[in-house]
Amino acid sequence: MAAIVSPFEEIHVGSMDPERFRAILGERFEEVDLGIRDGRSLFAGRSIWHINSTARGGGVAELLQSLLAYVRGIGLDARWGVIGGEPGFFAVTKRIHNLLHGSAGDGGKLGPDERELYESTLAPASAAVAELVDEHDVVFLHDPQTAGMVEALRETGAAVVWRCHVGIDEPNELARGAWSFLRPYVQRADAYVFSRDSFVWEGIDRDRVWIVPPSIDVFSPKNQELGFEAIDAILTRVGLIAGDDRGGGGFIRHDGSAGRVLRGAEITQEMPIPDGAPLATQVSRWDRLKDPVGVLRGFAGQLDGGDPHLLLAGPAAAAVADDPEGADVLAEVLEAREALGPEVRARTHIACLPMDDVEENAAMVNAIQRRSEIVVQKSLAEGFGLTVAEAMWKAKPVVASARGGIQDQIESGVSGILLPDPADLEAFGRAVRRLIDDEALRLRIGLAARRRIESDFLGTRHLMQYLEFLRALLAKRAKA
Ligand code: UDP
Repeated sequence: MAAIVSPFEEIHVGSMDPERFRAILGERFEEVDLGIRDGRSLFAGRSIWHINSTARGGGVAELLQSLLAYVRGIGLDARWGVIGGEPGFFAVTKRIHNLLHGSAGDGGKLGPDERELYESTLAPASAAVAELVDEHDVVFLHDPQTAGMVEALRETGAAVVWRCHVGIDEPNELARGAWSFLRPYVQRADAYVFSRDSFVWEGIDRDRVWIVPPSIDVFSPKNQELGFEAIDAILTRVGLIAGDDRGGGGFIRHDGSAGRVLRGAEITQEMPIPDGAPLATQVSRWDRLKDPVGVLRGFAGQLDGGDPHLLLAGPAAAAVADDPEGADVLAEVLEAREALGPEVRARTHIACLPMDDVEENAAMVNAIQRRSEIVVQKSLAEGFGLTVAEAMWKAKPVVASARGGIQDQIESGVSGILLPDPADLEAFGRAVRRLIDDEALRLRIGLAARRRIESDFLGTRHLMQYLEFLRALLAKRAKA
């Protein structure tokens, strides 16, 4: 029997006090404090809704979970809701996602049948959200999955913002085809937020566009400091290294309570990662645009021999609600690994991390990134690439594709290494090799990377930009 899918579900959001950023920002926090006080008076009596299509896995869920908790922490009513749909709906939205990145994806069409399925899935979700919203509120609809809700929610009188996290630096006909499918739905949004200027579509009213790059939450289980013992205990429990897991590694949950990594991962490896072996890692959803097979082959081509290990980590394949291609891509990765020579295969590890408890999953990712000498993100296309910022915060040198928002994070040769052509596996392998061989370079780049995140990609910058955007949006509506 098919599972009953609820059209809409509200997700609990915690509350976190941005005051904790004072320790990082010092005097610069005063400006944040002023902005917060201003935001409180502006938003008294209003709710700010964010709607997307999955509560876990992927960058948008990661962002909302933290950012909204800080918004609640300053006393505003931030709410989060997730829409549901049958697998056919998510097959269509994944197709749109791939096309927006300029890639053909499953090669299927966006015709009248797809439009009908898209609209009929979103109609009950829009009706459910409309019940909860009134004209004082602001509704952010995230990504293609929710774009078709703009019109229905505008009827409530609320301000409706379409927040697009994906895009392409130089649009091709595939991307333009997806824009044509979506444009009628978003045409009358009150405003648009894109992550970078080059992502803004042709035919969108520029006067309503705001550019807001994402951020990371440096206090979250994903990014908080972890001592060597905790890292070892987590990775032992996960199954990536051998040793005594001392009952699982500890971390601090969003609500301040103590957490412990208790689950293991599904791991494909011939042996655990040896103590002291240099490790290069990519953490990503199992998605062809993240090119995990290319990472394996590029590593094998240039690092055949020696002691470096490679880890590809991602969510347990069935865990991400809006990502139906995960299981197929994982199968391709496992097959590509099998095809490697025995020596290099023995130095590659594939980990599917359980998502039952998202904070436990985040602590696993944290420990993996911290154990790695090098982090890679060899995406063929990328919206922003939160994994890059996460690794940079941990002072890791990142080798990543010069695609999308990755280019806004890494200054190549200074705070990371950018790959101009992500399809060039040899160049990728050489960049990893160079960093493995040069510890001083790793340290220099790692420190610059950490400073870059501190200056531009903290949650407080993001929060301030949102408050500024919302102030302008409400002022414009008041005048109209
Ligand atoms: N992620 C995770 N667990 C996993 C794999 C990925 O928590 O097993 C997280 C990752 O740490 C990052 C997000 O998912 O925070 C991915 O965001 P990114 O912007 O890199 O890519 P997206 O998935 O949005 O395309």
